[in-house]
Amino acid sequence: MTHNVSERGFFGEFGGAYVPEMLYPNVRELQQQYRDIIESDEFSREFEQLLADFAGRPTPLFSAEKLSRRFGCEILLKREDLLHTGAHKINNTIGQILLAKRLGRSRIIAETGAGQHGVATATVCALMGLPCVVYMGELDMKRQALNVARMKLLGAEVRGVSSGSKTLKDATNEAMRDWIANPKDTHYIIGSVVGPHPFPDMVARFQSVISAELKEQCLERGAKKPSYIIACVGGGSNAMGAFYHFADDPAVRLIGVEAAGCGLTSGRSAATTALGRSGILHGSRTLFMQTDDGQVEEAHSISAGLDYPGIGPQHAYFHVTGRVLYVSVTDEEALRGAKLLAREQGIIPALESAHAVAYLEKREWRPDDRVVVVISGRGDKDMTTYIDAYGEAIAHEI
Ligand SMILES: *Cc1c(COP(=O)(O)O)cnc(C)c1O
Repeated sequence: MTHNVSERGFFGEFGGAYVPEMLYPNVRELQQQYRDIIESDEFSREFEQLLADFAGRPTPLFSAEKLSRRFGCEILLKREDLLHTGAHKINNTIGQILLAKRLGRSRIIAETGAGQHGVATATVCALMGLPCVVYMGELDMKRQALNVARMKLLGAEVRGVSSGSKTLKDATNEAMRDWIANPKDTHYIIGSVVGPHPFPDMVARFQSVISAELKEQCLERGAKKPSYIIACVGGGSNAMGAFYHFADDPAVRLIGVEAAGCGLTSGRSAATTALGRSGILHGSRTLFMQTDDGQVEEAHSISAGLDYPGIGPQHAYFHVTGRVLYVSVTDEEALRGAKLLAREQGIIPALESAHAVAYLEKREWRPDDRVVVVISGRGDKDMTTYIDAYGEAIAHEI
C-alpha cells in the first residue's frame, strides 16, 4: 500500500525508533530482519496454520439484521470476539512468538494493563515452550485478578509493579528496563501498533489478516465493498488490521472510535486525536495527551483496553492526512452500545468494541450503505463492570 512505513520507520512525521543505546542492536536486528522473516513461505505457512487451528480463523462476517433494520442500512459485524482468548490480540502474539523463535530469542517479556495482552502472550509462550514474564501494575493486578490467574495457570510469571500509579505506563517502564538488562536473549512482545519501529508496522502486518478476510467476505457477499469500516482505537491494532487492505481505496471510508471517557472536556478521557499533541512516547513520535511541559497525562476510559494516552504513529499519520476519521464515544454511550448489541443480536461485546457499536447511533446512514463494525473482543471480561453500571437496570429496556 502507498501508506507503507519508510526505510527509517516513519509514517510522514510520525514513528521512528527512539530507544536507549543499549537496546539499539536488538531493535536494529529486528528492523533488518522482520520483513524477510515474515514474508518467507515457511513463516507464512506456520502463521496461517496456527491462526486457523489454534486461534480459530477465519472469523465470520455476520449480517446483523435487526441492527440493519434499526439503523436503515446494511450492518455487518467482523467477529474477532470469537477468537481463542477472546479478542484479536492473539493474531499478533502468534506472529511475534514465531518471529522471536526465528531470531533465536529464548525468553519473552510483555506488559499488560487489563491483562488481555498478557493472557494472549502467556498463551503463545505455553504453546511454544518459552518462559514468559509479564509486567503488570499492582493496581491493575487487583482490578483484573481473573486475568492474573489465567496467566499464572498458563505458566507465566506475573511481576507486580509498585512504582508510579501502579498501572500500564509503569508496567511499560519496567518491561523496558528488563529488555535493556537482557538485550540478547529476550524478545519484548508489544501488544499494539505502538513502540519503536518496526513494531507499529510489524503488528499492523500481523493484524492485517482481519482486512484480508474482510475483503474476501465482502466480495462473496454480493461483490460490494464496505462503505464504512468502524473500529475502536486504543493503541490501534484491531483498527489498523481492519483498515490495512482498504487504506488505498478512498471509496471505503474508515472510522476510528476513541474513548471520550467522562467527556472530551472532563479531564478524564482517552481521546488522543482530539486532545493530544506530537511528542515521543514509548519509543516513537506520535500524538499523545500531555501536560504543558510534555509529561504524559493519565488517560481514563471505562474500558481498560482503550485507557491509553497515545495512539500508534500510523494512526497519527492517518489523522493528520485525513485518511481516517477519528471520533470519540463516552463511557455512557459505550455502555448503551454494549446493551444494544446484547439485546438486538445476542452478542455481548467487550467494552472496547462497544465503543465502535455506539458510534452507529451518532450519525445518519443511507439505505445503500454497507457498514462493517469490528467486534474486537467478547464481553466476558467486562461482566463486573456491566453489573456495576447497569445494576438493577440490567433487566430493563435500553
Ligand atoms: C486491547 C483491546 C483493544 C484495544 O487495542 P487496539 O490495539 O487498539 O486494538 C480493543 N478491543 C479489545 C477487545 C481489546 O482487548
